[in-house]
Amino acid sequence: MDLMIRNARILGREGLFEIAINEGKIVDIGAACGDSAKALDARGNLVLPTFIEPHIHFDKVLLAEKLNETSSITEARQMVREAKKSFTTSEVRERVEKIIPWGIENGVTVVRTHLDVDSYSKTTSVEAVIDLSRKYRDLIDIQIVVFPQEGLVKDSQTFDLLLKAIEMGADVLGGLPEAERSEEDSRKQIDQLFLLAKQKDLDLDVHCDVLPSLRNTEYYVSQVLKNHYEGRATADHLIALAYYDDDYASRIIRMLGAASINVIANPCTMMSSGNTDRPPKARGITRVKELVRAGVNVAFGSDNIIDPYNPFGDFNPLSNGYLLAYGAQMGSVSEFEALIRMPTYCSAKALRLENYGLVAGNDADLNIFSESSPRELLRKHGKPRYVIKKGKTLVENKSETIRNF
Ligand SMILES: [Zn+2]
Repeated sequence: MDLMIRNARILGREGLFEIAINEGKIVDIGAACGDSAKALDARGNLVLPTFIEPHIHFDKVLLAEKLNETSSITEARQMVREAKKSFTTSEVRERVEKIIPWGIENGVTVVRTHLDVDSYSKTTSVEAVIDLSRKYRDLIDIQIVVFPQEGLVKDSQTFDLLLKAIEMGADVLGGLPEAERSEEDSRKQIDQLFLLAKQKDLDLDVHCDVLPSLRNTEYYVSQVLKNHYEGRATADHLIALAYYDDDYASRIIRMLGAASINVIANPCTMMSSGNTDRPPKARGITRVKELVRAGVNVAFGSDNIIDPYNPFGDFNPLSNGYLLAYGAQMGSVSEFEALIRMPTYCSAKALRLENYGLVAGNDADLNIFSESSPRELLRKHGKPRYVIKKGKTLVENKSETIRNF
């Protein structure tokens, strides 16, 4: 064996285990798995598969160092639109490269990033991130979603630019129906997305109803069913679902479940800028508890980091989980476990990852923590003690060892 992890606590299982790793794979998980040249002692703490960031906008990170923050999502969109005109591949690469280590230190080794493709920035961000995904391929896997932030019907150049970005190597097709001028055009966008996704055999990952008054989700779900895209479609944000009356909301939740659509909540950005109502203000978070209860696959992402949508952000799934626990009022032991499954198994399902998870035969991508329960993980929302990818230790966060008292 190349590596043995001893005294590991595994989510959802009783007792402590040994995890045997050889040639980058988990080869055994059991009570005693034999000898190894190298061993790490998990000390009875949790060992999880590495974290997945299922929703982030790499092309916008750190823009707030150049622009002002704003408290309105409409203003933020306008500000980013202007900034995009001067994007260059090296400028985008420089910003993204600053934050990649933040994620890895926090145990993130898989990322799905949305990247704007439109007449303002063309395919600049896609070029930049494809370069980086090659450069960092041993440390982090990056899935690229091409994202028509400025609309597909409204911005006539976007369709061809999306095609170009897909040819360049983008993995997933994104969308934002509310970017169009009317509800009719929003539906047209959804129709075009399905046409293109099916033609290129791509999964769909669509920003849905960020603003409370919108009702595009119902049409999106109906098209997922009609086009047999069950399990291949994701709906992001769904803020409006929190504002619908209970009857309509439960109908949408049932439809999302029937269409096996993944839902990604983004607590940080939405608490910051996502709700436009007057006081008393809602939290800008979709109905996470009800969706989970209905069996919908729910995960959460960082969305934005230090840009006009979000003044902070640390690329740490545990601090986003901590925030979501408060925002979605998830306070029971089973809900803490559900929150820890979101940046791990639920995100893996949304991204349709293979060889993921603590099972013999899968990739040895593991985080070893200094905490022994989901509650403690969320409460401290610190870094893992070790981040391991394909059996190799990428990060050893020594300060966490000292803090383990
Ligand atoms: Zn987003």
